[in-house]
Amino acid sequence: MDKGLLIVYTGASGVGKGTVMKRLLESNDNLRLSVSATTRAPRPGETDGVEYHFVTEDRFLEMIDKSELLEHAVYCGNHYGTPEKSVRDMLSSGLDVMLEIEVKGYLQIKKLFPDCVTIFVLPPSLEELERRLKGRGTETDDVVKERLNRAIEEMEYAKYFDYQVINDDVERTKDEILDIISKIKKERTMEE
Ligand code: 5GP
Repeated sequence: MDKGLLIVYTGASGVGKGTVMKRLLESNDNLRLSVSATTRAPRPGETDGVEYHFVTEDRFLEMIDKSELLEHAVYCGNHYGTPEKSVRDMLSSGLDVMLEIEVKGYLQIKKLFPDCVTIFVLPPSLEELERRLKGRGTETDDVVKERLNRAIEEMEYAKYFDYQVINDDVERTKDEILDIISKIKKERTMEE
């Protein structure tokens, strides 16, 4: 039985998930982010092993073959996946682990860990999402368009998540998520 809480954290590209995540990790000592593997190229400022394990397609396929991933999916032409061992190690040592993954990954994790807590982060509006995606300036117009379309498709799934959180303000959103985590941990302790 895992001691830590597994939290699936999903939301459209450009919704500000990463910024909120950074504040969550700074504010809660028991929380860890699982570092995914991806075949996407690093963005300026991203470091291998920090934001992602940046791997070749061959290495990614090998990870699938060797069952090293808990889940994996293709997102806008790149592979993304969650390494199993580090997540299981963290959970069994009592740490709470966040998986920042897209919807297909969520569906796989929900089957494997029915007790996981699922949080979907929404933008205040689609206009705001488009503005943020363009403002990032790290993707071409085509990629921005593809990511926006994907975001709209993904938002259809928000209703299946345990919690929907609107990222209108980083600090407020961070506090809302910390409250959700502490409420669930309290409930689970009482059930034991
Ligand atoms: P980005 O390229 O913007 O960093 O991520 C693109 C999408 O892939 C985001 O929705 C992000 O949450 C998702 N993602 C990142 N890591 C994983 C992973 O390990 N598995 C899955 N299924 N999705 C991931």
